[in-house]
Amino acid sequence: MPNPLTTCDLHVHLAGSFYAEDLLAIGAPIFREVDWAARDFLNGYNAALDTKLDPVQLFAEALENPATGFPKLKNAYVFGPEDSGDFEKFMWKYRLFSHLWGYGWEQGRETAVSMITQAVEHHKRQGLRYVEYRAGFWGEGADLRQKIQICAEALAAEGDEQFTARYIVALPREEPLATYHAVRQLLVEQPQLAPILLGIDLASREEGYPPKLYRELFQQLRQDNAAHPDQALTAVYHVGETFFDKSLESAARWCHEAALLEAKRLGHCIALGLDPEVAVSRRPQAHEKELVSERLDQIAYDLRFAAELGLFGVPVDEERLLAEQKTLLNQADDWVERPYTPQRFQQIRQRQNFVLNQLHQLGTVIECCPMSNLRIGGVPDAKHHPIHKLLASPVNLCLCTDDPGTFDITLASEIEWVVQHTTFNHDSLAKRLGNPHRFSLRSASSTKP
Ligand SMILES: [Zn+2]
Repeated sequence: MPNPLTTCDLHVHLAGSFYAEDLLAIGAPIFREVDWAARDFLNGYNAALDTKLDPVQLFAEALENPATGFPKLKNAYVFGPEDSGDFEKFMWKYRLFSHLWGYGWEQGRETAVSMITQAVEHHKRQGLRYVEYRAGFWGEGADLRQKIQICAEALAAEGDEQFTARYIVALPREEPLATYHAVRQLLVEQPQLAPILLGIDLASREEGYPPKLYRELFQQLRQDNAAHPDQALTAVYHVGETFFDKSLESAARWCHEAALLEAKRLGHCIALGLDPEVAVSRRPQAHEKELVSERLDQIAYDLRFAAELGLFGVPVDEERLLAEQKTLLNQADDWVERPYTPQRFQQIRQRQNFVLNQLHQLGTVIECCPMSNLRIGGVPDAKHHPIHKLLASPVNLCLCTDDPGTFDITLASEIEWVVQHTTFNHDSLAKRLGNPHRFSLRSASSTKP
């Protein structure tokens, strides 16, 4: 019986699934044709990593002389522990593959499918049995629908008795509705994709995009699901991963608000597990300033949940909040600055407990990606990893890899890391988490009685 913790991955970006070996295999036939300077790739990469990348030379050497060439390629691509904390570096290393990925898609269906197959076959060799892949695409209209369709069909074709791939379409936060409608239209035109294409994801840059912006999208989602139960889509949502633009109260609130939108699973929620004193120590004056609009949303939230927050040891002084609200209403575009005190830190810990408890009651799942949090989530070290608090809470939790190829990790290595760095062993971890498969997004047909 395979261990479900190491065989079911629910948070994986398809474009982050390519290992250095896959990069080489995909790049081998095309690396000389690719315009590496296009879209400012070379300049950006070299500036961010303070290097002089020569991709053609890199691929040529890796192919001709793998013993010395391949480690160089791998080093240029993998975002390892030594790169940790620098999101800019991550983005450029990630683009070393996505530059090829974009070029491959321009070549048409056959190349696109072969790239997807390359990643999925690698996952199969690792023993994975069930993976929900996320991928978003550029373009619009029929072109966008076609890319989503090719991706869904390529993933469907990988399914066999040992392995199941499912597809979650990533929506751009700045304009999610266009891609959402493309997915819906595709499902009407190609209803056979419904068992594969199960969900939508709000991903990439989170700062500046509060959950309240997506009420209309989720309203539409509920309506469409009711109208087409056979093509129901479920939402997952990246939140509480990068939150330097706001207070720690607001960062915790966003996680709660994403759950209240009815996202089934939340990616990361570092804001619910990272200790507030550690969070603010990451940068000078971190989390002290936020937009007045954010503070106003926090006041409205505190007034709404005053009684429940009180039960978790967070006193809500309604009169004082109403007075603050009155003052702030006239300065909506401004920033407020509120320094931290030991008492406020303690209340934020209680707020985290409150939100974790609320998520538990709502049945919302947190997808924790240990290595991703350390390398790109601003978590300083293993000891202060949010996973400790998440594991100690009652919240539904699953462990996932996020970008296994880019980080050069596997689901099994993630589980091993957790066993090594927390108080849990394999047995107690399995007991705490349960089978992650119960949190998978199921097709409407498979949930029918
Ligand atoms: Zn992710």
